[in-house]
Amino acid sequence: MAMTASSPRVLLRRLREVMAGSGSPQDRLNLVVSQIASNMVAEVCSVYLMREGRLLELFATEGLNPQAVHKTQLQVGEGLVGDIAAHARPLNLKDAQSHPLFAYRPETGEEIYHSLMGVPILRGGRVLGVVAVQNRTMRDYTEEEVEALQTVAMVLAEMVGSGQLVESSAFEESVAAALPQRLEARILAEGIAMGRAVLHEPRIEVARTIAEDVATEQRRLAGAVEGLRSSIDRLLASSELVAGGESRDVLEAYKMFAYDRGWLARLEAAVDSGLTAEAAIKRVHEETRARMHEITDPYLRDRLADLDDLANRLYLHLTGRQRGLPDQLPDDAIVVARHMGPAELLDYDRRRLRAVLLEEGSPASHVAIVARALDIPLLGRCAGITDLTDPGDPIIVDGDHGQVFIRPQEDVVQAFEQNLAARAQRQAKFAALRSEAATTRDAVAVSLHINAGLLVDLHHLDDTGADGIGLYRTELHFMVRASMPNVSEQTDYYRRVLDHAGPRAVVFRTLDIGGDKILPYQHDDTQEENPAMGWRAIRIALDRPALLKAQLRALLAAAAGRRLDVMFPMVAEVAEFKAARTILENEVARMARLGRDLPLSIRVGSMLEVPSLMWQLDSLLPEVDFISVGSNDLVQFLFAVDRGSPRVAGRYDPLSPVVLSFLRSVVSRCDEAGVPVSLCGEMAGSPLEAMALIGLGFRTVSMPPAAVGPVKEMVRSLDAGRLSTFMDSLYGSTEHSVREQLQRFAEDNQVVI
Ligand code: PEP
Ligand code: MG
Repeated sequence: MAMTASSPRVLLRRLREVMAGSGSPQDRLNLVVSQIASNMVAEVCSVYLMREGRLLELFATEGLNPQAVHKTQLQVGEGLVGDIAAHARPLNLKDAQSHPLFAYRPETGEEIYHSLMGVPILRGGRVLGVVAVQNRTMRDYTEEEVEALQTVAMVLAEMVGSGQLVESSAFEESVAAALPQRLEARILAEGIAMGRAVLHEPRIEVARTIAEDVATEQRRLAGAVEGLRSSIDRLLASSELVAGGESRDVLEAYKMFAYDRGWLARLEAAVDSGLTAEAAIKRVHEETRARMHEITDPYLRDRLADLDDLANRLYLHLTGRQRGLPDQLPDDAIVVARHMGPAELLDYDRRRLRAVLLEEGSPASHVAIVARALDIPLLGRCAGITDLTDPGDPIIVDGDHGQVFIRPQEDVVQAFEQNLAARAQRQAKFAALRSEAATTRDAVAVSLHINAGLLVDLHHLDDTGADGIGLYRTELHFMVRASMPNVSEQTDYYRRVLDHAGPRAVVFRTLDIGGDKILPYQHDDTQEENPAMGWRAIRIALDRPALLKAQLRALLAAAAGRRLDVMFPMVAEVAEFKAARTILENEVARMARLGRDLPLSIRVGSMLEVPSLMWQLDSLLPEVDFISVGSNDLVQFLFAVDRGSPRVAGRYDPLSPVVLSFLRSVVSRCDEAGVPVSLCGEMAGSPLEAMALIGLGFRTVSMPPAAVGPVKEMVRSLDAGRLSTFMDSLYGSTEHSVREQLQRFAEDNQVVI
């Protein structure tokens, strides 16, 4: 016999009738389970709800032994029902009894049922319980049936949460006591933080799930869709695309989906099934997310991510709520987001921001770099975090071990408080090293610099005792503004940087925009498939020389009477460097003509981050005053591995013989030519990597400020001569990585890493 459930609309209507009827909450719940069972042609339907102490209690059943109601209890994680609650995901099993997690409870009499389909009852990202159906036969429940049960679970969540189905005394405590959760995540910026959750994207909250009147809900949905479309059209038509920092590309993608029939049809079908417009948006949104987890093609995933954002916007149109930063940021904010660009991170008030948790993200992405620059712990790939947290939830971020504790228990809190105290001690130890020299045991002096990009970074110069700023990413200042800073604004800004640095050198890198560094007020219609290799950095500067001229003019004016160090990013050919330098020389000549004060000295350098330069060193080195290796991009281009993609982030190791041999050649060529060379990528910021860099000859490195203490401690414990001899044996290796060998060297020689 073919078994199929009838439409969820019929079931939703019945459920509404049950709710409108009389009877105690328990009577209603009993009716609800029997309605679900008959609608889904299942012999059993049971509802388990969460009790205090992470116990799932059988609250009602059709089909199992009624004596078991309020008796059978399962721990979260125990048995199939416990597994559904623990992972907040459905299970659909044709042969449930042979599943390793099946936990037999004799009092229920369930041994005769073979198949099981269960879904979590979720509210605001928390698991309130589980609803499951069972059949005697080995039944294949279809995807549609799983979806129908999820729709029912959504309705149940609302009913349970509002106390209509369960005596509030029975449930109150467990609703309040949402479960603690621990997630594994990827460390993008180290550090530990405790604070309260702030959701970066608005959450779709549904107060009412079952429609009173389907036609009304259809009209509400149509109105919201209309509002959404016209707002996107308006934004696209306006010349300024400042709103929310969105780029035109994203809006174009939104537009495509907002007019997409498939998306709309799914929303309309959800409303037709008897849901309110809000509930329909949420339902479709959840489906989209579920699909997103299965899709591996990064392009399609991005498009689905757009669709996900669009659902949020549609919801805002429906409810008239405003998008934007939470206006009242707590002073211990832990921002939770699906993904985030560097500019969005900079929108938050640094003083109140303790940490950022992302569902996506990779270590070399610019948001990660900005987080490290700001010394804000950032964890990526926190699967499901946006669903699992509610605004205000206490969170502990362990950015040393890559874990997140949501609503942590008291013992975890205590352990972290101790850990924070220990960190404070370590910081004190690094602070004590502040004025000590970064000199190795065999008297090799290493110059440690910091990477910076915002005025808020500058105090790190004093705090860390760094020798200077080895990389000043000027684009960050451009990214945080709503409009392009003019020459005099830029001059003031660079002057403040130089004033703060005093006698310490600051290497200003000219604008490195393009790639994932998008200026909110600038757009270009050309879509690029690979923006990191596209129109970016010096390529833009040479094609739009006015931008570069204005920047150089401001830098020259700011450095009048003092030293100026400038470098150009993404140089791939010597001719590009020369062209940029000529623009600088012309600006110098112009200033001299105008009788303006000039810098006392000007040093012009090139970043080496595109491998092609390696084969042009003969002609490049005589032209430059210094070279700075950008290992982030260099590694990206050497291995053809997208630095922003979480999927390939760990695939190649910068401590591979390939990278190390490459860097060693760069250093020796620069040494021979007498050209100072440094490295300013993220590599320099981790003690083991920094050790390797010293071993291959670097004597100047630039890193995120938080890394200076640990790297200095490493330097002071190192014998550079011995390391360099040791490393001679590594360059010829054919291994994927020589990390382990370097680690062993550090252990054997008491190098602190
Ligand atoms: C690099 O590529 O290593 C670098 C320092 O520049 P950015 O990270 O800003 O691209
Ligand atoms: Mg770079």
